[in-house]
Amino acid sequence: MIIVLLGAPGAGKGTQAELLSAWLGIPHISSGDLFRSAIQSGSELGLRAQTYINAGELVPDEVTIAMVAERLRTPECAEGVILDGFPRTQNQALALKAFLDTLYRSVDTVLSIIVSNEVLMERLTGRWICPQCGTVYHAVYKPEKVKGLCDIEGARLYQRSDDAPATQGRRIEVYLSQTAPLIEFYRSEGVLAEVDGEGSVEEVQQRLREVISAVRAGSGR
Ligand code: ADP
Ligand code: AMP
Repeated sequence: MIIVLLGAPGAGKGTQAELLSAWLGIPHISSGDLFRSAIQSGSELGLRAQTYINAGELVPDEVTIAMVAERLRTPECAEGVILDGFPRTQNQALALKAFLDTLYRSVDTVLSIIVSNEVLMERLTGRWICPQCGTVYHAVYKPEKVKGLCDIEGARLYQRSDDAPATQGRRIEVYLSQTAPLIEFYRSEGVLAEVDGEGSVEEVQQRLREVISAVRAGSGR
């Protein structure tokens, strides 16, 4: 199955994608995580992406599309994928469609996770991440067991620099102007489902699984 998760920064895409990936047995591909690994490794891609990410702007389409396509071509993705944070522009959506066409495939469902601006800000402000395994915590909603340390790796958690209040607002604006139009694009393709992203992680997961189960039943997958 090819699943796209749409939603503003902080909507819970990464959190939900991890759970869906374990449930469906297909990889979770986050373009943001791919960029952050490139930055950590000091690669040319990372250097190119860093300025845009720090400013809360989108990395140019040609760079992003090439990076995601390279990942999608790996054998691990043959059974399907959960895309989180990609596509984020009309050009990226068209490039994804063209890429999947070459494999005689298409996006099965686009889950648009809807959360109010107030909740988004609260989630971004409280987000903490493990630098080693990438596990995402929240100061209030998903706290670590020992303050400041990852439950799995014991590494010191960090906050993303683009989660700082000064950048949060810009990222939400960028989402509304450049990414939200994809909701109509995918609605017209007949694959859009809108899901309430508020409530507990488990409640949202349950809503997403219901949609996916219905899509699978409809397509016989
Ligand atoms: P996104 O990938 O859409 O930017 P994340 O999955 O990283 O969002 O979630 C943002 C923050 O909100 C994280 O700290 C995460 O632990 C927390 N979070 C995610 N879903 C929920 C939820 N349903 N209730 C409370 N906190 C949540
Ligand atoms: P995320 O982890 O999804 O919040 O992404 C973090 C940042 O990486 C974004 O604010 C963008 O600067 C960049 N990024 C991630 N995905 C994309 C994309 N599909 N297109 C352009 N930039 C992206």
